[in-house]
Amino acid sequence: MQYALITGGSRGIGKAVCLKLADMGYNIIINYTSNDEEAKKTADAVKAKGVDAVLLKCDVSNMEAVDSTIGKWMEENKDKTISVLVNNAGIKRDNIMVLMPPEDWHKVMDTAVDGFFFVSRLVVKDMLVKRKGRVVNVVSLSGLKGLPGQTNYSASKGAVIAATKALAQEVGKRGITVNAVAPGFIKTEMTQDLPEDQIKGMIPMNRFGEAEEVASVVGFLVSKDSTYITGQVISVNGGLYS
Ligand code: NAP
Repeated sequence: MQYALITGGSRGIGKAVCLKLADMGYNIIINYTSNDEEAKKTADAVKAKGVDAVLLKCDVSNMEAVDSTIGKWMEENKDKTISVLVNNAGIKRDNIMVLMPPEDWHKVMDTAVDGFFFVSRLVVKDMLVKRKGRVVNVVSLSGLKGLPGQTNYSASKGAVIAATKALAQEVGKRGITVNAVAPGFIKTEMTQDLPEDQIKGMIPMNRFGEAEEVASVVGFLVSKDSTYITGQVISVNGGLYS
């Protein structure tokens, strides 16, 4: 009974990851925070692939909520193992820094950084006991090179990149790998307000990426083909930055 937990798994990149890992035979736990309709659609699509789909609705930036949903599920399902964790939940609230409302700074930081911590502390603890596990953190090009208008988002993803490298060193001896995937511009609701025609000229591959192109790298990082890769950040950005 191997499960993969994908935070922010109901839409966009997270949804593509759920479907990819379902194809690989994992049962899927889909975390999300508000959009019940999309979450149910994703769960139905996962189930159609012949594996189990569990919906766990909670805000990953709220520790009590994480403990009382994800923690509770783990407690009540001791016969099931979360052997893959994909920390994917994320939001953006872009603005130039001097005009950025403090709540937009905190909301973006809390979702990415606290979300990573609150979920991983529960799941990785269990992985350590079982001496098995894969963690993949979805970060961003913005966290590698910094992007103007995204000081909050760049800082949050940069923090998760550093945490990825630190955690990988903590848990490697127990057979657990921790890696990050850094997408560039990917077609999801998060980027739907961006002018793709203007931006794509800057991208060597001259287009935005598809969510499935990120999901396939996550699939590789949780597969048997990547057993000796840990603490790495893999860019999926059409050559925009490396
Ligand atoms: P998206 O289409 O906006 O989907 C975001 C997902 O995260 C939804 O499932 C949403 O749930 C969930 N979510 C948001 N806040 C949450 C919270 N506090 N707790 C739990 N779930 C939460 O975004 P996306 O483009 O797929 O992005 C996914 C990840 O990739 C993010 O970490 C993002 O920063 C990163 N990324 C995206 C791009 C890009 O170009 N799209 C580029 C680089 C990195 P609800 O449906 O309930 O709101």
